[in-house]
Amino acid sequence: MRLATRLDHVETSAIRELFKLLGKPGIISFAGGFPDAALFDVDGIREATQAALSAHPGAALQYGATEGFDPLREQLAAYMAAKGATGVAPTDLIVTTGSQQALDLIGKTLISPGDKVIVEAPTFLASIQCFKLYGAELITVPVDGQGADVDLLERLIEAHRPKFVYLIPTFGNPSGATMSLKRRRRVLELAVRTRTLVVEDDPYGDLYFDAPPPPSLLALSNEVPGARDCLAHCGSLSKVLAPGLRVGWLIAPPLLLAKATMCKQFSDAHTSTFAQATAAQYLAAGRMPATLARVRAIYAQRAAAMVQALRQELGDAITFVAPRGGLFVWARLTGANGGCADGALLAQRAIEQGVAFVPGAPFYAANPDRATLRLSFATVDEERIREGVRRLAVATQMRAN
Ligand code: PMP
Repeated sequence: MRLATRLDHVETSAIRELFKLLGKPGIISFAGGFPDAALFDVDGIREATQAALSAHPGAALQYGATEGFDPLREQLAAYMAAKGATGVAPTDLIVTTGSQQALDLIGKTLISPGDKVIVEAPTFLASIQCFKLYGAELITVPVDGQGADVDLLERLIEAHRPKFVYLIPTFGNPSGATMSLKRRRRVLELAVRTRTLVVEDDPYGDLYFDAPPPPSLLALSNEVPGARDCLAHCGSLSKVLAPGLRVGWLIAPPLLLAKATMCKQFSDAHTSTFAQATAAQYLAAGRMPATLARVRAIYAQRAAAMVQALRQELGDAITFVAPRGGLFVWARLTGANGGCADGALLAQRAIEQGVAFVPGAPFYAANPDRATLRLSFATVDEERIREGVRRLAVATQMRAN
């Protein structure tokens, strides 16, 4: 088999290998990156499915337009407007098969081999892999508690003239970090001044705990003249409703949206009309606010339980910023008191103790910080979170034989 050369520099992720071990009985997993299936609004989705079949029996089961099912595009434009992103017409967005496909279409339409793309360090692993597949050279900008370092971003844009900058400004995966309002404004101004496209990936923004995060770059772009022309936005129902629906969307300037639509046509023709009609009915039924309120409250409790347990059980063996939303605690091992300071090694020892998490190194496109870890609290109840963290503390202090 002679594979395409574009595959030469892309490997299946180390994380997938780790997932094979999760079947071990009794294991407590902080490894997943998904929402809790027990929280899915099954009744609401069942009703929406029936309503979709009653309202659009033909269209919901027929081939559809590549751009998406119009009633869903209308609902999504309204959903975005309710979050401050006013002025997005239904025709300014296309429905994609998860936001993952939106990212793939961005890569496909924009990246030629050797092009530079700036990504956060750390960032979403699948985006690293996808942009690399199209031959991008990835340049990294570090993330701190306030999001990406915008001073450095400015210098990197000027030095490298990237095709685009990819950011997860709100409750990032894996960093959990949220970019401050001040930095958001600066990113938009920078994009306009340097004529650089910024891609905002925002699957987690609705999952805040106490207070809403600052407005998305998309919402804020209304206040910065010219910014809308330099911005693409990827949204998703995966983390807030159900990933199995595979409903995401892409909002982008007209030329990019048209070319992405063309590429989508060659790839999956359109996102499942049945899933789209169901999602449209769900949103139209007005169930989303209550669903969001419920999942936010539960994730907030689980995050608090994990933060407290980590402080209590691991003390100065790790550092982290308590998340204010999303699904993850991003932590760094300090090696204090002779504890383990390597995320990958700790992941192996942790599995032996009956707890799983994902080491942080694969989330770096370059220069990995091997002391980092990503812990998801989303799918584990509070009692099990406390037990899992106890096991993690034991694993941290285990000596190599
Ligand atoms: N972006 C980020 C940052 C993610 O974490 C994920 C899912 N893990 C996605 C995009 C893709 O989500 P989906 O395709 O299910 O919308």
